[in-house]
Amino acid sequence: MRFVSFETAVRQTYGVWQDEDHWLEAPADFRATYPDLKSVIAANQLQALDAAARQAGHTIQASAARLLPVIANPSKIFCVGLNYKTHVAEMKRADSEHPAIFTRFADSLTAHGAPLVRPKATQRFDFEGELAVIIGQGGRNISQADAWHHIAGYACFNDGTARDWQRHTHQWTPGKNFPGTGPLGPFMATRDAIPDVNQLTLESRLNGEVMQHASVADLIFTLPVIIEYLSGFTTLSPGDVIATGTPGGVGDKREPAVYMKAGDVIEVEITGLGTLRNVVAAEA
Ligand code: MG
Repeated sequence: MRFVSFETAVRQTYGVWQDEDHWLEAPADFRATYPDLKSVIAANQLQALDAAARQAGHTIQASAARLLPVIANPSKIFCVGLNYKTHVAEMKRADSEHPAIFTRFADSLTAHGAPLVRPKATQRFDFEGELAVIIGQGGRNISQADAWHHIAGYACFNDGTARDWQRHTHQWTPGKNFPGTGPLGPFMATRDAIPDVNQLTLESRLNGEVMQHASVADLIFTLPVIIEYLSGFTTLSPGDVIATGTPGGVGDKREPAVYMKAGDVIEVEITGLGTLRNVVAAEA
């Protein structure tokens, strides 16, 4: 099953992804009970949503609406740094015993098809294609053995980064939180739609040129390890987003370096999760 969040001329809403141009809106009575996709996930009603939207058959044309980040209002957004050996090597970092975790604010997210805003304040605006996990049932102290049961689904993510601001100190938060720099989508595919994440291939393309190409099987810290670690210090909640890290090939470490500029097209494609596509726009 595939789900989207979007807004029409009259409301923020959600429903079922059929294809790039057609989505099925959740019926009004369903939306009255569950105001957003996060609340559907919290109530464990994704299957009911899929059935209700298909039965109602209220097709929304993409031209008459616009996508939101697939989870528009997560309580927490976690990002894992340095989680592919190829990226650890290009960053010249030592292996770590624990995953490197930083966080993002919800207003740093943006949607598939929305402008990816290049901040005025950076000279080094970079892409990072990543697999994002969306938490279903929340909890604390979740064991690796139980972790899969806490995953609602998956989506593509682009951890758009101001490299200069990331490196002002050893805390990365400023470089990772400019508004609208983290595209999430286009849709969420449920966990049952992706039986084995190790079979997924991730590719990032800048203006059609392949910049990153990796197997998700190459993650250093696996999804169960990440979920156990995060829930060991904080409570995970339904709809929380975990960006699992980017493989080698980022623009900053190329020779010569490649940074995103206005008009560039950046895409992140993952097997079964569609293509997350954004055009870079200069900050007004
Ligand atoms: Mg990243």
